[in-house]
Amino acid sequence: MGRLAPSPTGALHLGNARTFLLAWLSVRARGGTLQLRIEDIDGPRLKPGAEAQAIEDLLWLGLDWDGEPVRQTERLARYAAAASELVARGLAYPCVCTRKEVEEAASAPHEAAMDGPVYPGTCRGRWRTLAEAKAVTGRDAALRFAVDVAAVPFVDRFVGAQAGTLAGDFVIQKRDGGPAYQLAVVVDDAAQQVTEVLRADDLLPSTPRQLLLYRALGLIEPRFCHVPLVVGADGLRLAKRHGDTTLRSLRERGVTMQALIGYLAFLCNLRPRGTACRPTDLLADFDMTRVPDKPVVGDAHGLA
Ligand code: GLU
Repeated sequence: MGRLAPSPTGALHLGNARTFLLAWLSVRARGGTLQLRIEDIDGPRLKPGAEAQAIEDLLWLGLDWDGEPVRQTERLARYAAAASELVARGLAYPCVCTRKEVEEAASAPHEAAMDGPVYPGTCRGRWRTLAEAKAVTGRDAALRFAVDVAAVPFVDRFVGAQAGTLAGDFVIQKRDGGPAYQLAVVVDDAAQQVTEVLRADDLLPSTPRQLLLYRALGLIEPRFCHVPLVVGADGLRLAKRHGDTTLRSLRERGVTMQALIGYLAFLCNLRPRGTACRPTDLLADFDMTRVPDKPVVGDAHGLA
């Protein structure tokens, strides 16, 4: 069981399409099922219309899924329940620190973790409940998971053995009460009985955090498979400055689905350049070991 998990925060581009194609191929080549989950919890970054656009793009690519799409905003109660359980069991705690305070308290810049400085533990053990934290400080509190190990080593299907280094207590519920990505993704992947999480390797540093949550909540861990990102000719992650590689724009410029899938298959080292094919044509001889283990340079030249 796999999943496609787009965040409706912008238009899907070539790089997203390649990751989704690989997620689809990996599961479908083994006859497995696949679910679509819309990760729409990142309020401020959501773009109106992006969900419908993502679905249209995936369908245009010829990627399908089983069952109805699941939206994270429809599952908020489940995330809140998981967060409360972790607090009740002493594994997570309310934290009233602002980002600025965390930055100022971090002792050295080299302690910076993937998404900001390492949390120095200021609020650990200070409050038992969100209500208590609010009553004393007047501030809404987030919830942080208390990390008591230095690392959670794991073996990734694509990148192999990982040290799984952890850097400090991390947020599982935001101050506004909404779930943090780390918690929502674990609750959902477990509830949807996902056995393979295939995603881009920019999320590799999140994996040890997610493994801690699986273990704390007594959930079955999936296998992780982190594939390299598509980058521009300058080696940087594909972005607007590399030209418009959004699927919508390619489509509007007359690129056919077959030409695009063929190009993505070329970027995955599954077909020679210039092949035109559909995703289903790639199933019979799909071989993950052929996919390059370095970032691949992709652009829209030659396509449109
Ligand atoms: N929704 C995330 C993204 O679009 C993917 C999260 C995941 O695969 O765990 O980047």
